[in-house]
Amino acid sequence: MLFDLSGLYKKIKCNGSVNKLPNGITLIAENVPDYELVNGYIDLNVGSAYETPEKKGIMHFLEHLCATHDMNKELGLMGVKIDAITSPLNISFPIKGSDNFLLKDNFVKAFKIIKNDLFKPSFNHEVIESERLTVKKEIIERNNKFNPYRDIIDSINNYLYGNNPFFKDNAITGSKESVDSITIDNLIDFHNKFFVGSNTIVGLIGDLGPNFELRDEIIKELSDILKGSLSELISYVPERLFNKNKFLSFNNPQKSSDCNIKIYYQIPINPVDISKINILMNILGNGFNSLLFKELREKERLIYGLSTKLEGHYITNYLKIEYNVDKSKKDFSIACVNNCINKLKSGDFDKDLIDIFKARELPGLIVDVKKVGTIHDYLKIENMGNINTKKYDIINQIESFWDTTKEDIIRVANEYLNDNKLVISIE
Ligand SMILES: [Zn+2]
Repeated sequence: MLFDLSGLYKKIKCNGSVNKLPNGITLIAENVPDYELVNGYIDLNVGSAYETPEKKGIMHFLEHLCATHDMNKELGLMGVKIDAITSPLNISFPIKGSDNFLLKDNFVKAFKIIKNDLFKPSFNHEVIESERLTVKKEIIERNNKFNPYRDIIDSINNYLYGNNPFFKDNAITGSKESVDSITIDNLIDFHNKFFVGSNTIVGLIGDLGPNFELRDEIIKELSDILKGSLSELISYVPERLFNKNKFLSFNNPQKSSDCNIKIYYQIPINPVDISKINILMNILGNGFNSLLFKELREKERLIYGLSTKLEGHYITNYLKIEYNVDKSKKDFSIACVNNCINKLKSGDFDKDLIDIFKARELPGLIVDVKKVGTIHDYLKIENMGNINTKKYDIINQIESFWDTTKEDIIRVANEYLNDNKLVISIE
């Protein structure tokens, strides 16, 4: 099984470009000739993590103020769907339609409007007060959402991400009180400091013309943005939460004969072995050939469904195994999981499982690298690192897929699936 990437590298050279503008803006473009459509975004590499505790929610508030153009009928007529979003490390203003792309001419017009609203919003008293009400409504609505498992989920998250400042309650929106305390001057100060060229990334994906003419037009359009100073990337080192096996159990608010089991193994963020961990995870618990399916479903008839995946929140990552099992078989099922993990560590598994996984993934990977946007993503990760993009470089992943051996799987199983794990049951 082989996958030739040389054509793709040639395409990256011809159709991809990265420009560092004099005012600090990084512009990453992917040209898709004859596509007739374009989409893009203006992103700021700062977010709620840059706030002071007293001004929690100010970045999200600013996002609202800079996106009041959702009332703009002109943008509606261009097919623009407003979808700005604030996260701890990023504020994103996509310039797109409902299925991502806009007609080429509409894109340029929409870009100009959104850019002006973002970098030169009107700090008008009336607009600020009405947006303040909207933001507070958003906070109330989130807190009121009905979820019988809320307390359980909160405790689990607290346990998993307890030391992660990006995960705290209302980390992004702030509280009603903190939003009330934000003044016009605060908003202007934060805007002046953070909404600057040095923190800005602009992406363009689509039909930019034979010689990237559309990109050059956008570069001109961006020339009036002030450079400002680059805000340093915030990164936290996660506390090692699990020192030995930990077991937590909760009462299920919806009584059932089954209990839900979640087993977490901590994985460092951006590990060099991510592709190999991915294969390991699939051999362990994805698809009917996987060890957990063979053991828990086929042999013991304990479960129906099973999910094994990587999940996390910015600075803490987990490999999670989740299934439902009869309460009386809970301990036995966990022993079966341990058994499967020991098989991986000792090499007691069929090496064909690696090829089964590769064969299953190959078509999807081919689709992915041929997708519009892959070149852009590749260039973005290459230039910004994947902390900012929160994505893994698919091309790199493909390259390291093919040479994965049984010895690699045994090594990563021993390195990452150690005894420091968290087992949660909801009974
Ligand atoms: Zn909002």
